[in-house]
Amino acid sequence: MDRSFDELEAIVRNRICSVCTERTTEGQCGLEDPSSCALFRLFPQVAQAIQSVDSSDIQQYIEAIRRNVCSVCQDQAQDGSCEARQQVQCALDAYLLLVVDAIEEATGKTFDKTSIHNLAAGPAVRPDQQIRL
Ligand code: SF4
Ligand code: SF4
Repeated sequence: MDRSFDELEAIVRNRICSVCTERTTEGQCGLEDPSSCALFRLFPQVAQAIQSVDSSDIQQYIEAIRRNVCSVCQDQAQDGSCEARQQVQCALDAYLLLVVDAIEEATGKTFDKTSIHNLAAGPAVRPDQQIRL
């Protein structure tokens, strides 16, 4: 199923912002600069990275995000580390499982969440985790 980036972004905003700990009680993004949210600042790259993977292994998606999104993100240091990621302050990393699930569902694919036990990444992609951005 083909979806435009705008459609996918609207779907992901609806799914992620509604559970994001940065969201205010008024339903707005509470970041000082909402446009700085890496998930939406780099959304075309995010959507392309996720759609380039056909797997039920979340690790494959994590690698695609690191390769295609983090590599062009202003927050990644030259050595590949990311302070925002380490501090669980990147919504893309924090909610990656939900982002993958939303995009795969919107494009007619199914992401098998049972693969979550394969995680080698940090706490960011546990679906039940409360994240403080
Ligand atoms: S930080 Fe990002 S994901 Fe969270 S509410 Fe703001 S725009 Fe949405
Ligand atoms: S994890 Fe860091 S480098 Fe990757 S998108 Fe988020 S802020 Fe950018």
